[in-house]
Amino acid sequence: MYIPLTLAITKTAAGLSRSLGRGGGGALPGLIADRLDKRLGQKLAAQIPHGVIIVTGTNGKTTTTKMIASALEASGERVLTNRSGSNLRRGVLSSLIDGADRRGKIDATIALFEVDEASLRRVAPELQPRHIVVLNLFRDQLDRYGELDTTAALIGQGIAATRAKVYLNADDPLVASLAKYVASPELVKYFGIEGLPATSTANHQTASDSDRCPVCGTRLKFVRTFYGHIGHYSCPTGDFDRPKPSVAITGVQQADISGTTFTVALDGKRYDGNLPLPGTYNLYNALASVAVCNGLKLEPQQYLPVLAQTTAAFGRVERVELDGKSLYLLLVKNPVGFTQVMETFLLGASKPHVLMLINDGIADGRDVSWLWDVPFEALQPKGAVISVGGVRASDMALRLKYAGITSVARDSIKDSLGQFIAALPDGGVGYILPTYTAMITLRELLAAQTDIQEVMI
Ligand SMILES: [Zn+2]
Repeated sequence: MYIPLTLAITKTAAGLSRSLGRGGGGALPGLIADRLDKRLGQKLAAQIPHGVIIVTGTNGKTTTTKMIASALEASGERVLTNRSGSNLRRGVLSSLIDGADRRGKIDATIALFEVDEASLRRVAPELQPRHIVVLNLFRDQLDRYGELDTTAALIGQGIAATRAKVYLNADDPLVASLAKYVASPELVKYFGIEGLPATSTANHQTASDSDRCPVCGTRLKFVRTFYGHIGHYSCPTGDFDRPKPSVAITGVQQADISGTTFTVALDGKRYDGNLPLPGTYNLYNALASVAVCNGLKLEPQQYLPVLAQTTAAFGRVERVELDGKSLYLLLVKNPVGFTQVMETFLLGASKPHVLMLINDGIADGRDVSWLWDVPFEALQPKGAVISVGGVRASDMALRLKYAGITSVARDSIKDSLGQFIAALPDGGVGYILPTYTAMITLRELLAAQTDIQEVMI
């Protein structure tokens, strides 16, 4: 169908749905457009002068997309991007439709989309991106995707349908193995961390499958791991090694809850950078964005200062100082939020002390089965010290047990808080993750003893 006509119908329907209070964004325009013209996405994407960039992987898509968008905007590009949560094919299509006027003209000079791992297979052939970034592959939403190898193969199919430059995390074995799907070897660029104190040099133990060689299935030998299965590895049979990254963090000068100061090597040259977000996990997101900017031939002197201005993706959190110990209060209310808290605060820390307080009031959600959608497995290799409390403490403890984590469970929030604080070392940092009604009880208990401060993270 003629593009302007398809767009007119699609946009009218989306607007109508919005005015009827049924929500106009999301997947609806994409759904309608699909019925009218299967090639609409392809046609719209093809007219964007500097092409399409796609960011995929289990964790960090939104943060990385935001970092790349800021760098592109600072370099003068007009960026068309999708909101987090609309990263399935129809969501991406809807963003393209939103970005086009009624004549089918897109004003943006470049498009940047985060795309769900399983959707890349369909989105990539359609949009023919010039750049694809793969961040990491973790077990996620077990019911939805099945084995990680299957997810990797789906991403591989998407990559194979393009002639894109592909940026792969060298430190994630399964991601690094995707190079075999790339149209030609000079289109592959690896990013990774060389110089960072390993959080664990011990024999890598994890519930994830990603410790198997993607070539022969032998258990990989990890000489160091930074978090989860992310680290330096090789296959004992000699058929698969961590590739040498051309975009690499070669040194970390300072890393704490406020962020990381680092040195990055880009094709052999070194630059200083600063990222105001905590955690190794975010450092990888920053590195991925640097790799893309480098691939787009932007100037490091231009995008590294932009990276240093990254605003908190997390927002406001509360901190309490008590008996020389610091406590962070981090509300958890759904799998995505819980995962973000873990990623931002816990995965970058070594042996973090964590108290999870799970209630099942109406404001919390009566059904706590959502806890099974949170990838607690990632915490297991961190040596996290975990206690649980609240009405559903035993459900939480059971979920952790399946993730290979032993925890101490007490129903009483007061008792679990008391024990948790007593067990924290002097000067130590504790992370408390309550559901909504548990947070109310927690704040009352803490406010009786000290001040609760709000801080930006
Ligand atoms: Zn092997």
